Amino acid sequence: MRIDCPFCGPRMGEEFVYLGDAAMLERPEDGATVDYVFLRDNPTGRHRELWRHEGGCGSWLVVERNVSTHEIYSVRLVDEARHAG
Ligand SMILES: [Zn+2]
Repeated sequence: MRIDCPFCGPRMGEEFVYLGDAAMLERPEDGATVDYVFLRDNPTGRHRELWRHEGGCGSWLVVERNVSTHEIYSVRLVDEARHAG
């Protein structure tokens, strides 16, 4: 798998560290906590994940990809992804 880092360009996946589901960045307001905790896991299909370019620039990235086919749809900086919703 290759990840296209916004700063470094396309790099091998081995340079990146997977940190978890990007849904953790989008914690909803009070009242939706139950759905947040129990409904966020969707192990197939299109998924947003949090990665860090450990072997490169150290950026925190939101990688949107298909976890079944490993196709990557987008790579954005965490701050960018937050503001884009
Ligand atoms: Zn990088």
